[in-house]
Amino acid sequence: MSWRATILTLFPDMFPGPLGLSLAGDALARGAWHCEARNIRDHGLGKHRAVDDTPAGGGAGMVLRADVLADAIDAAVTEADQRPRLLMSPRGKPLTQARVRALAEGPGALIVCGRFEGVDERVIEGRGLEEVSIGDYILSGGEIAALVLMDACVRLLPGVMGHDQSGHDESFENGLLEYPHFTRPREWEGQAIPDVLLSGDHAKIARWRHEQSEAITRVRRPDLLTPKG
Ligand code: SAH
Repeated sequence: MSWRATILTLFPDMFPGPLGLSLAGDALARGAWHCEARNIRDHGLGKHRAVDDTPAGGGAGMVLRADVLADAIDAAVTEADQRPRLLMSPRGKPLTQARVRALAEGPGALIVCGRFEGVDERVIEGRGLEEVSIGDYILSGGEIAALVLMDACVRLLPGVMGHDQSGHDESFENGLLEYPHFTRPREWEGQAIPDVLLSGDHAKIARWRHEQSEAITRVRRPDLLTPKG
């Protein structure tokens, strides 16, 4: 069974979007993964298929209704469905490469995309949704966040990246940021490629890259070097 994403959204036309192109798109066309976008509005209420209402307690904006969203979720999954149920949310646990790897190794994910002010709190626990954030900023909806998560997962699926070794040296994979890359020309605007990379000494190159990774991480992301308690 290939990796399967089911997305609940008010904008199903946003999927697969950019993931229909390039390596992810080729893999999608081959059936290496599946992308099913379902419209929450199909479960909306009344003539206008209403999905949202004003927040209890007052305040600006609208909130996705618990009953509508729960119906959409129930229609999208069977009891046998073991996939994690994610809710894209700025209040969620920040997405990490480790979490992405775990998701990519599983059967896929059900991904709920919020809109407006968010979703009725009761449906989060009621349907076992795990809130996932892609960073400390606010998007207008969960769709782009879902695409980010899916892109990160799909590129790890077997056979999706042309060259299977890539992905292992990458930033975050070993807890460090990646070392700098260079390619031709050998000299560009007066700047040469570091000699060590042209030395052909693979052990020395590996050592240099590791040192560079550590130095860059120390300067840019010292938080990555502090063990988490
Ligand atoms: N009022 C909410 C923000 C709502 S933004 C708050 O202050 O927490 C509307 C929707 O966009 C959210 O329901 C969520 O699905 C999505 N979203 C916004 N920012 C996000 C982020 N950083 N990560 C993941 N999803 C996000």
